[in-house]
Amino acid sequence: MQLRQQLEALDGKGYGAYKSLKGHYPFPDFTLHVDYVQGDPFAAPSQVRVTVPQTVAQFPDALYQTPSRAMALADYLNRQFDQATQQGSGQQGSGKSGLIAIARPSQVVLIRSAAQVSATGVEMRFTVGLPAFGRRIAGRQAVTLLCDRLPQLVDQTLRYGNLDAAAVRHHCEMVEAADGLRAQLPAHNLVAFVADGAILPRRSGVDDRPLTQALPFQSPASLRVSFDLPNGITVTGMGIPPGVTLIVGGGYHGKSTLLRAIAAGIYTHIPGDGREFVVTNPAAMKIRAEDGRSVTGVDISPFINDLPQGVSTQHFSTANASGSTSQAANLIEAVGAGAQVLLIDEDPSATNFMIRDRRMQALIAKAREPITPFVDKVQQLYTDHGVSTILVMGGSGDYFDGADTVIALDAYRPQEVTAQAQAIAAQYPTTRQSEGGDHFGTIAPRVILPEGIDPSQGRRDINIKVRDTDEIRFGTETLDLSAVESLMEPTQLRAIALAMVYAQRYYLDGQRPLTTALSAVLADMAHQGLDCLTPEPRGDLASFRGLDLAATLNRLRSLQVKSSGPETA
Ligand code: ADP
Ligand code: MG
Repeated sequence: MQLRQQLEALDGKGYGAYKSLKGHYPFPDFTLHVDYVQGDPFAAPSQVRVTVPQTVAQFPDALYQTPSRAMALADYLNRQFDQATQQGSGQQGSGKSGLIAIARPSQVVLIRSAAQVSATGVEMRFTVGLPAFGRRIAGRQAVTLLCDRLPQLVDQTLRYGNLDAAAVRHHCEMVEAADGLRAQLPAHNLVAFVADGAILPRRSGVDDRPLTQALPFQSPASLRVSFDLPNGITVTGMGIPPGVTLIVGGGYHGKSTLLRAIAAGIYTHIPGDGREFVVTNPAAMKIRAEDGRSVTGVDISPFINDLPQGVSTQHFSTANASGSTSQAANLIEAVGAGAQVLLIDEDPSATNFMIRDRRMQALIAKAREPITPFVDKVQQLYTDHGVSTILVMGGSGDYFDGADTVIALDAYRPQEVTAQAQAIAAQYPTTRQSEGGDHFGTIAPRVILPEGIDPSQGRRDINIKVRDTDEIRFGTETLDLSAVESLMEPTQLRAIALAMVYAQRYYLDGQRPLTTALSAVLADMAHQGLDCLTPEPRGDLASFRGLDLAATLNRLRSLQVKSSGPETA
């Protein structure tokens, strides 16, 4: 075979000679495409693809006929391929020599560029470390890697006949059922659903697999609903209606865990995760305080007014937001970008953004307090803007008055206590003065200017790097995204960084509102796939929401927006 001879001929040469490998190589069952060749054994590894025609892969078309199933099947193959690369022979030689690696999926199912399935066939994208000893090409090891191990991997993981057919089908059917469940939420007038039997807690802060020996979720009878899902699946569980929902209960009784599971419900989880049928309105956004973040031209006046030194809050900008101003900006930006459900936990919230009780009102007059607390705005947000809130609040009963639904957790067991909370609110009035006025206030469309988005650094036009799910290096700037909890994989951050460049080039023209630009970017991705973001095919991207792209853009320190409100000195 041509590749084998080519590799043998390269043996012992300087590493740079590998560059000649770029190209396409037909194997009996698939084609190998070498898209990018690394410059040395310690550099980022080489990028390759294999395409396997359906005549070989032989997946029944029922497994990829709907968008959910196609995504699920590709996700399944991605996981199989990843697992198989973990086993058997690995690194031999210098640096990354001999290593095969595909983007590693988290617990959620996403559209990923690493694995794609269609009627044409299967395409997998991954990296290989082309083998060397020192800086000399290890030709024989390269033959083993590309001509022996790779065909084995393809055979083992990408042919239907060699997979566990029942497991493949189960994966596709469960994902389709969960996606179907999420799609049914509006018709049932719900913003979230948590299935009976779901396992919500995770093993640890760094291990997203289900906690073993957790108490399975059981819905309170009064909130229990049932759904008939695709593939003959029926589920029962707790439905959360729109409006204001409080999650209360003693410390360590599972409040934050429930909210985190609801937040994760924007995604569909793999079978075995425990949250397979925990689903949430996909336009839900977790909001928290994030002091130190940069804010550019946001109208936070529904919450903050009369700052010292006459700083404008209708067009508020700062390089170093406080707890309360950052939380206000996070909330207004999210709603402005299309969030329909806000998820707020008391733990990472700014206390003075959340509450201001009777005694504090008596001591510090309204005229001396710039902050209008969320407790006076949460109902207005729903009545004026149709935005629901699910709020974990163990620390203040002042929220009872504005709550439509109250769920109490007792040793991880939820009960509905709406009536009790209302009776208590009537029996013990807060005697607070409401400070929120009659309306929430307008949320003006946001127009982002293209000038503020610059991915270049030095001689490089595009310098983008991603660290875990927390950080994007964008041009000369390091963007901290640790407060954007909806991002699950580095692949999403990479795609978002590229989408910022794409949005700037095609849609952020200084006229279009951000929401219109976001929809346009997502529509292009839906039609053309993630590949529309890059000139070359890449295997390290995954799907994301417009809300998360907006959240990233809004945190850019170099951001410029078109001024809408009056600027105060
Ligand atoms: P809270 O916010 O009410 O203080 P957390 O949600 O932080 O409580 O949960 C406290 C601890 O209980 C966490 O370690 C969490 O993993 C664990 N936990 C939560 N739900 C369950 C459950 N259903 N079964 C077992 N442990 C749980
Ligand atoms: Mg908590």
